[in-house]
Amino acid sequence: MIHRSASGKALVCLGIESTAHTAGMAVASSKGEILTNVNAVYKAPMGQGIHPREAAQHHCDVLPTMLRRVIYKLDIGLDAVDCISFSSGPGLGPVLRTGATFARALALWLEKPLIPIHHAIGHIEIASLMTGAEDPLVLLVSGGHTSIAAFGDGFWRVYGETEDITLGNLLDVFAREAGLSFPGGAVIEDLAKKGRNYIELPYVVKGNDVSYSGLLTAALKRLKDGNGIEDVCFSLQEVAFSMLTEATERALAHTERKEVLLTGGVAANARLQNMINSIAQDHGAEAYVVPKEYSGDSGAQIAWTGILAFQSGVRVDVERSFVKPKWRLDEVRIPWR
Ligand code: AMP
Ligand code: MG
Repeated sequence: MIHRSASGKALVCLGIESTAHTAGMAVASSKGEILTNVNAVYKAPMGQGIHPREAAQHHCDVLPTMLRRVIYKLDIGLDAVDCISFSSGPGLGPVLRTGATFARALALWLEKPLIPIHHAIGHIEIASLMTGAEDPLVLLVSGGHTSIAAFGDGFWRVYGETEDITLGNLLDVFAREAGLSFPGGAVIEDLAKKGRNYIELPYVVKGNDVSYSGLLTAALKRLKDGNGIEDVCFSLQEVAFSMLTEATERALAHTERKEVLLTGGVAANARLQNMINSIAQDHGAEAYVVPKEYSGDSGAQIAWTGILAFQSGVRVDVERSFVKPKWRLDEVRIPWR
């Protein structure tokens, strides 16, 4: 559906992403177009994890240049922007505050409404926009999330999740400790293709939740014990993805959804796509995968969800626009679905 403002023009939202490694800025229209999408990823020194203060400084350095690029690429002045959206959580406090400060300043300067967006809802909405999925069971797998969710009565209901670290974190920390480059997911996927031997690893599903920390420790130990990196990557993927596929299949049987939507950075993995495809087929459901360009964190997910939220009257006063580092997906009331 094309929404328009009172003057008849399509609505335009400038969205800012800043929850973890990625600083992003994008502009979306209510026609469902991503007019521009500029992103920059902070990389920690080799062998180290994300340092929140350093990542915040990185985002602080790149956001002003991004704004200039967005204005240049957009070919419409900032006057054309109807609202400013920003990822207000969950994420790392210092990083969230950097993006929020930038968004608040823009909203005040342009005298436009400020729209707070839950980062995970952004992953779901950009995937829905790009694939056309309407009422799916969602499998969200990224650096910050590992959740199985379906929409009902105004909220995303969680049917399974990780009890400790996320799937993206499992892959990135394994890669880091194994001396591979960041981000680890794609490197592990390439190595796994050359793996020939399955090495026993702990498969931990509790109820409909998964637990990955023991798997991480065990995979690193198998590597230290002298097993080849290709075989360990292959086995790690098989176990980690199978655990989640088992839980997703149970949720699919329970919710009887006719669509499954895979989104988040790890959705780019062909082996995971393959497993999710097979359970969808078994249950007569359609499997959808977010396009690779929009799988990882981006300004686009925040700008597009900003449009949906703005049209439903979601706003926040600058004085009350606090960030929420621990905001859960199932706490957000969604008025537009
Ligand atoms: P996000 O937090 O949504 O930006 O997603 C980032 C995560 O996606 C990181 O943990 C990456 O390692 C992971 N990722 C990216 N590409 C792949 C891939 N091909 N296979 C598995 N994980 C991936
Ligand atoms: Mg994310």
